[in-house]
Amino acid sequence: MAVVILAIIIVSFSANYYISLHFQKFCELSENVIPRCLCGGPGQMFLTSINRSLILVGGLGLIISFIFGYFLSKLILSPLQKIMLATKKFSAGDYSIRITVKTGDEINDLIETLNEMFSSLEKLEKLRKDLVANLSHELSTPLTNIYGYLEALNDKVINNETERNKAISLIKKESERLIHLTKELKKLAILESDNFFLSLKKTDINSLIGKICEKFEPRIKEKKVSIRREFNQDLPEIKIDPLKFEQVISNLLDNAIKYSSNEGIIELKTSRNNEQLIVSIKDYGIGISQKDLPFIFERFYRADKARTKKDDSAGIGLTIVKKIVEAHKGRIKVISKKNKGSKFIVYLPINT
Ligand code: ADP
Repeated sequence: MAVVILAIIIVSFSANYYISLHFQKFCELSENVIPRCLCGGPGQMFLTSINRSLILVGGLGLIISFIFGYFLSKLILSPLQKIMLATKKFSAGDYSIRITVKTGDEINDLIETLNEMFSSLEKLEKLRKDLVANLSHELSTPLTNIYGYLEALNDKVINNETERNKAISLIKKESERLIHLTKELKKLAILESDNFFLSLKKTDINSLIGKICEKFEPRIKEKKVSIRREFNQDLPEIKIDPLKFEQVISNLLDNAIKYSSNEGIIELKTSRNNEQLIVSIKDYGIGISQKDLPFIFERFYRADKARTKKDDSAGIGLTIVKKIVEAHKGRIKVISKKNKGSKFIVYLPINT
C-alpha cells in the first residue's frame, strides 16, 4: 500500500509539473494562432482530469493492494502461527504434537523437518521413560526382598539356624542379582557412549569359541548339557575385538544353556560364505514364541517373564550382543519356535 501511495504522489507531482510546463511552451509557440486568454483553460482542465484519474487509480490500487495484502499475509502467517503454536505445545511437554498444514513451498520443508524432529524427540522421551520405569522395577524387587529378609533377621522372627542360613543365602542371591544388573547396565552404557571403540585384532574364531567353551565347563557339567561343535577349519582370521566378541558368544551360550532342559544338546557351528563368517548357536530348549521374537533384542525384554524372574536375567544380554555385532558391521538373526528351541546366527564381514 505504501508503494502505491508513493507511486501516485510521484506521478501526480511530475505530471503537474511537466504538463503545466509543456502547455506554457505550447501557448508561447502558438501565440499567433490561439489567443493567450484561451491558453490557461484547456491546460487546467487537462491537469484536473489527470489528477482525478490519478486519485481514482490510486484509490482502486489501494483497495486492491489491501485485499491482496490481507489474503497473502494470512496465507503466509497462518502456517507460521501454527508452527509457533506447535513448538510452544511441544516445549510444554506435548510430545505427540505434529504440524498438519500443507503449503507446498519452503515453509513445507520447514514443517517436515520440524515434524521429523518432534517424532525423534518423542521416541527418545519414550525410551527415557521406559528406561526409568524398567530400571526402578528391576531394582525395587531385589531391594524389597533384601530388606524383608534383613528385617526378619533383625526382629528375630527367624530364630532357627536353618531358616537363618536360608535367609542369608537368599540375601546373597538377591545381592548377586543386583550386582549382575548393574554390571550389565555399565556394559550397555559403555557400548552406547561416545568413547566406545573396538580394539581390532586378527582373530581365529574357532579357537576363541573353544576357549569360551572351556570357561563354561562348570555350568555345562552342572546342567549336564552336551555341546556339539561343527567348526569349519578353513576359516580365515578376521579382525574383531576379541574381548567384546567373547561377550557375544558368552551371552548366547549362557542363554542356550539357561533355556535348555537338563541333559539338552547345544550345537555350535562356524562356517563362511563369500563375504561373511557365520557363527551359529542352536539349542533345543524352551524356544521363543513368535509374538516375543521381534522384541528380544530390546533392553529389559524378557519373553518368559515368570521363568526369567527366578534367574539373574536382566533382559539386557541380547541388547549387548546386538550392539557389539553391529559395531563390527555384522548382523544377528534368530530362528526360534516355542518348545522346540532357538538358533542364533551371527554374520561377520570377512574384511573387517
Ligand atoms: P536374559 O538376561 O533375560 O537372558 P537376554 O537379553 O539375554 O536377557 O534375553 C532376552 C530374552 O530372550 C530372555 O529373557 C528370554 O526370554 C529370551 N531368550 C534369549 N535367548 C533364548 C534362548 N536361547 N531360548 C529361549 N529364550 C531365549
